[in-house]
Amino acid sequence: MENLNYQPPVTVNDRAGEKVIEANFRIDDIKAQIAELEIKISALYNVIVEQGIDPKLIERKVEELVTNRPERPLVSVLTRSQICPECGKKVKPSSVDPLMGTCLFCGTKVPFYPTF
Ligand SMILES: [Zn+2]
Repeated sequence: MENLNYQPPVTVNDRAGEKVIEANFRIDDIKAQIAELEIKISALYNVIVEQGIDPKLIERKVEELVTNRPERPLVSVLTRSQICPECGKKVKPSSVDPLMGTCLFCGTKVPFYPTF
């Protein structure tokens, strides 16, 4: 009897495999950026509420921004870097450790403080 569910094995060539790996790296970057943004927003929200700002004012501002949303995103994609305080080389933000970067030359941990 013929097996109607049979599917021939899928052969993945090297280039396709590389594309999958690259796509997974990009997804990891996006996840790290989202985690970083969650931390920044949570920090800002907590500080301003602790300083006495009514959360309803924040909700109204969110509504205002959503209503008058520009065509382009408010914050551009994070493509920033910092100078290592120890050796002076460029340090990029980590894709796995939000708000931190590690110098590839000397290993110094460099904080990436929130910017908007
Ligand atoms: Zn360094």
